Amino acid sequence: MLNRDFELVEIAKDADAGCMAIIALHSTRSGPAFGGIRRWRYPSSEDALADALRLAEAMTLKCAIAGVPGGGGKAVILDRPDLPRDAAYRLVGRLVENLRGRYYTGPDVGTDAADLEHVAAETAYVARPGPEGPGDLAEPTAIGVQAGIEAVALRLGHQDLRGVRVAVQGLGQVGSRLARSLARSGARLVLTDLDQDRAAAFGRELDAEVVAPAAIVATECDVFAPCALGGVIDDETLPTLRAKAVAGSANNVLASERHGAELFARGVLHAPDFVISAGALIHGALYHLEGAAPPIERVRHIGQTVGEVLDRAIEERVPPEVLALQLARERAGAGR
Ligand code: NAD
Repeated sequence: MLNRDFELVEIAKDADAGCMAIIALHSTRSGPAFGGIRRWRYPSSEDALADALRLAEAMTLKCAIAGVPGGGGKAVILDRPDLPRDAAYRLVGRLVENLRGRYYTGPDVGTDAADLEHVAAETAYVARPGPEGPGDLAEPTAIGVQAGIEAVALRLGHQDLRGVRVAVQGLGQVGSRLARSLARSGARLVLTDLDQDRAAAFGRELDAEVVAPAAIVATECDVFAPCALGGVIDDETLPTLRAKAVAGSANNVLASERHGAELFARGVLHAPDFVISAGALIHGALYHLEGAAPPIERVRHIGQTVGEVLDRAIEERVPPEVLALQLARERAGAGR
C-alpha cells in the first residue's frame, strides 16, 4: 500500500462514542478532492481502508474524464449493528473541517440527507441536499444519463430518442427521473422495479410496458438502462441480453472486465458507468467551486464524452470502459 500514490490517509476514532472513520485523499493537484461518504459493514478495518483507497483513486479518474477541476477523495464509516450513527457522521465532519477545504464531501452508499446534516454541523465542506446546498443530486445524474443515452442512440442510427426502445431497471431516485425524461423525449419504455406497485404506477403514468425484474435484461430493446444495483451483466445474464446498448446510472454494471470485453465482441455499445453517471459529481463539485448551480449544459456535456469514448473505442478496437480509463489517466496526468 505504501507504494501507492496517495496524498493523505487518515484513520480516526471517537473512543467515547465508539466509532471509526477513514478519509483518503488521492489527489488535490487539479483542485480540491471530491467524493462522498460510504457507510458499510466491512469484514475488517483493512477491508475498509482498501475500499477508501480504491474509491478515492476512482474519484480522481471520474473528475478527470468529467472535466471537473478537482481530484479524488473518499470517507468511509465502519458500520456495525449498534453504531452511534450521529456521532460517526460528526466525526467525519470534524475530519473534513480539519482539512480546511482540501476535501469536499457528500452522499454515497449508506448516507442519507439526515446523515449529511450531522456532517454539516461540523463543517461547511459538504453538499447539503436542502436549499443551502447544491440540491437534489439525483436530478443531474438522470440528466447526464439521458444525454449519454442520446449519444448512444445517435450511434445506433437514430436522430433523437423518438421511438427508441429503452428498458429501465430500477425506478428509484435516478431511474424514476430518467424514465420521465425519456418519456418526454418520445422514447418507448419498458420498466421494472423490485417494488411491483411502484413499477405499475410508473407504467400507467408513462404509458409504458412493465415487466418482472427477472425479465428486464432479456427484454428486446435498443438500450438497456441499469439504474439499480451493480454487477448486472454477469455470466448468467450476458448471454440473455437482447439490447443493442447498455447505458444507465448503476455503478459497476459489469461483474468483471471480461464481461465488458464480451459485450464489445458482440457489438453491444456500452457507456462506461463512471463516465455516464458523473452528473451528480459535476453539479455538486461546480456548485462548490463556483458558488452557484452550474448551467445544465455542463452536465449534458456527458453526452459528448460518452460519444467520444464510444467512437474512439470502435476506432481503436478496445472496449469502451478500457478506453475511458486510458483517457481519464491521460487527463489526470495532464492536470499534474
Ligand atoms: P435508489 O436506491 O433510489 O433506487 C434503486 C431502485 O432500484 C429501487 O427502487 C429498488 O427497488 C430498485 N431495484 C433494486 N434491485 C433491483 C432489481 N434487481 N431489479 C429491479 N429493480 C431493482 O438508488 P439511486 O440513487 O436511484 O441509484 C441507482 C444506481 O445509480 C445505483 O447503482 C447508484 O450507485 C447509481 N448512482 C446514483 C447516483 C445518484 O445521484 N443517486 C449517482 C451516481 C450513480
